[in-house]
Amino acid sequence: MAIALSKKVQALKPSASIAAKQRVTELQAQGRTILDFTLGEPDQDTPEAIIEAGVSALRGGDTHYTGSAGKLDLRKAICEKLARDNAVTYTPDEIVVAAGAKQIIYEAFAATLESGDEVVIPAPYWVSYPDIVRLNGAVPVIVECPPETGFRLTPEALEAAITPKTRWLIVNSPSNPSGAVLEREHWAALIEVLERHPHVAVMTDEIYEKIVFDGIRNCSPVSLAPGMKERCLIVNGMSKAYAMTGWRIGYAAGPANLIKAIIKLIGQSTTCTTAFAQTAAVEALRGDQKPIADMVAIYRERRDLIVSMLNDIPGVTCSTPGGAFYVFPDIRPLLGRKGPDGAIDTDLELVTYLLDEAGVAVMDGTSYGMPGFLRLSFATSTATIRSGCTAIGAAIAKLSD
Ligand code: PMP
Repeated sequence: MAIALSKKVQALKPSASIAAKQRVTELQAQGRTILDFTLGEPDQDTPEAIIEAGVSALRGGDTHYTGSAGKLDLRKAICEKLARDNAVTYTPDEIVVAAGAKQIIYEAFAATLESGDEVVIPAPYWVSYPDIVRLNGAVPVIVECPPETGFRLTPEALEAAITPKTRWLIVNSPSNPSGAVLEREHWAALIEVLERHPHVAVMTDEIYEKIVFDGIRNCSPVSLAPGMKERCLIVNGMSKAYAMTGWRIGYAAGPANLIKAIIKLIGQSTTCTTAFAQTAAVEALRGDQKPIADMVAIYRERRDLIVSMLNDIPGVTCSTPGGAFYVFPDIRPLLGRKGPDGAIDTDLELVTYLLDEAGVAVMDGTSYGMPGFLRLSFATSTATIRSGCTAIGAAIAKLSD
């Protein structure tokens, strides 16, 4: 007899981006050339000095468990980083380190949510938020943030979404998938609403903080109003800024009681994250930051190329993202056109068509809570961007009205 699975796991969808990666790998294994725009991680390698720090930590015997909060030296380096980059003051007992920002988000919700609680999630959202909320028994309350508002949460939409059951607002800026950035003035307007609703805590996922363009600056609400520190959890990590996705280092800064609860959960699940990766993360935070500027310059060039090529395709409108490495073009005018297998009525059907017809893999907006859009990652070479966008344009031109 098969082992029965829990209802909550049966209800859980596999991560859409991980599923897309699998589909691309399968097609490539069949010998097809696929131009892949689904990647949710930097295509560049971890900077050399960080690798060196990890290797010498390993050689030096840094191969044991650490405390569940993470190494003290790393937590101190995180406090220094938060003061330097974000103008916020934290002490090491207000910091926890985990196996990626994803684990932090998971444990923070596990530590706080009761069945029936609500979490406000602006859409388009990172695919995992609603599933993590549901897995912890709570209800995602999705708030649409269309291109007309720059894909940003407005104070009016936030006000309308809050109920007595709201426990959290989670905001990802710069955003995966839209690239929208909440700057100082946007946060100031949201804080006015939040001040009227002191029961709502705020989780800010700042994982793409360093990947911003054109002088745009991400802003942490904790730095803006005195009351925000007690109700905010800042989530960040090494994955995107330092091209360290496989090292699995994320962290959070927040009120000591919540941090303690997250540490307790880590202590009963993973114990701690990898010791030598924590040592390498100290080097990343305290060492030369130039590799970040170099990576951002590369992303910027690619962003400009992909935005202009997509906007050259009739029926596609692509706004320019202020941060992260994704574009989120509006393809609604294309829906209803006919392909070889009949009408293409949804973004999901367009994704399948582009894969079959053009050999191009992109993500559907539906997975991010906004049907009628696509997500393309530009964490890939300019050669792929050129050939991919040309192939997308050619495939779309074949559709008939
Ligand atoms: N938040 C967002 C918005 C992300 O895009 C990702 C990674 N795709 C994460 C969190 C998770 O990052 P980590 O590797 O630190 O778990």
